[in-house]
Amino acid sequence: MLFVELIRKKRDGHQLTREEIEAIVAGYTRGDFPDYQVSAFLMASLIRGLSREETAALTQAMLHSGEILDFSELPGVKVDKHSTGGVGDKTSLLLSPIAAAGGLYVPMISGRGLGHTGGTLDKLEAIPGFSVNVSLQQFRNILRKIGCAMIGQTAEIAPADKKLYSLRDVTGTVESPFLICASIMSKKLAEGIDALVLDVKTGSGAFMKNPRDAEFLAELMVETGQRMGKKVVALLTDMDQPLGRYIGNALEVEECIQLLRGEVNGNQDLVELTHELAAWMFYLGGKCSNIADGKRLSEDLLTNGKALAKFRELVKAQGGDPKVCSDTLLLPKARFVVDIAAEEDGFVHSIQSEQMGYASLVLGGGRLRKEDSVDPAVGIVLHKKVGDTVRRGDPICSVHYNDGKKFEVARNMVLKAYEITAATPAHSRPLVQKIIGGDHILGSSHKTNA
Ligand code: URA
Repeated sequence: MLFVELIRKKRDGHQLTREEIEAIVAGYTRGDFPDYQVSAFLMASLIRGLSREETAALTQAMLHSGEILDFSELPGVKVDKHSTGGVGDKTSLLLSPIAAAGGLYVPMISGRGLGHTGGTLDKLEAIPGFSVNVSLQQFRNILRKIGCAMIGQTAEIAPADKKLYSLRDVTGTVESPFLICASIMSKKLAEGIDALVLDVKTGSGAFMKNPRDAEFLAELMVETGQRMGKKVVALLTDMDQPLGRYIGNALEVEECIQLLRGEVNGNQDLVELTHELAAWMFYLGGKCSNIADGKRLSEDLLTNGKALAKFRELVKAQGGDPKVCSDTLLLPKARFVVDIAAEEDGFVHSIQSEQMGYASLVLGGGRLRKEDSVDPAVGIVLHKKVGDTVRRGDPICSVHYNDGKKFEVARNMVLKAYEITAATPAHSRPLVQKIIGGDHILGSSHKTNA
């Protein structure tokens, strides 16, 4: 069958067979099909949706496009965490070292910036010398030696996701629960893990803006992972404002290093979510008997410096300059930093987070085209978050930039993103809204804090 016929079939709302989906994935991975045809197929899939069977076939085809790792020789549980993507979401950089310092193995395969969201790989590459492209053998060695390793999809592992991910980034085809499920689960199931914690974001900075859609995505992924014999739990978490205070690649690394050094600086949401996710990693990895103990373990590892020491080891092992851990001035810095002032008195009612993410992308922190490189230094530092009081003229955030024209565009986006009102916001949303798959693992006695 010609590829164009498969595009038409999906466009017209028909279901593709497993063989047809396998042919598309294998053909694109080999380089047989051009980006424009695959983009059309992705858009048809996003608009029409995929059935459970099609989603399972796509996930399997993407998983089998490369090697499936086996770390059974390592004497411990292999656990990972993956987020569906948000703005200022840097928890992977904290969780890898925390979990490894607590005795788990974390073989993490991450992605680059996607749509308006930042990507772990772009953040790690902001560390001078850090390589996310180490060979499979090096990945194994680093994981065995220090307990965590962080790489991207490669020609060997999840190559189909590597290609489809960067195409989706620039073709408006990210926001499909079926494509997100296949992308995330194909990488994660290739990692040789025993258990997985999923952070499924919902809110203005998430791909799934509404909690019902986020829950659907969470169930799809949990079901996919459990069918493959993995322990999987998904936390539905708030992304209605950026997480923490820093947005942008080097800036987010800096915020993580501050936290690893024990400096909490108005970013309580980031700290709280990190401990919650770490607790689930420890629980699924058998390092604690309940979530409260897991949180305490995570807090200890952050305050006693063991997580920082592990992060330093990781940076060194992957070719980065470990001195950044004691001197964040060694990270790339933008030439200009300008404060954005509040235009009225009141309270921060909301921060439209997708706009904030795009503002950072426009500054150069993300890609408009596949071949673009990112500027690691640019981004935004928030001084005011939802619920904070502001007076006209107060700096609400600072923009770090290298290009004046880009700054002008980003400045307007940032100003529009902040909604300042006379009254305080009526209620704040819980950071963790629901836990999916937890009952299956913990038994029905477990209560969520939704
Ligand atoms: N993270 C991924 O790895 N893939 C997606 O599609 C979205 C978030």
